[in-house]
Amino acid sequence: MTDPNLALTAEMIAGLLADTSPYLSCDDCFARIDEYVERCGADPRYEDPAMRTHLAGCGACAEEAQALRELIDQQSQQEK
Ligand SMILES: [Zn+2]
Repeated sequence: MTDPNLALTAEMIAGLLADTSPYLSCDDCFARIDEYVERCGADPRYEDPAMRTHLAGCGACAEEAQALRELIDQQSQQEK
């Protein structure tokens, strides 16, 4: 079975090596993931270190963020 998360491994390691002090729980992450993904899409310079750190270290939330990102991409393509 191929694991689609394998591609994230280098990114995950970088996240784990980074400062993990603003670590969120998955509940906290899910509470603001929509806003986070939307803001990241709207402004490439937008930073939320706590969210970024959590997503780098949590496969489940990273998958959720990826799905949201794709959804937003599809919507913005339909608007054009
Ligand atoms: Zn999580």
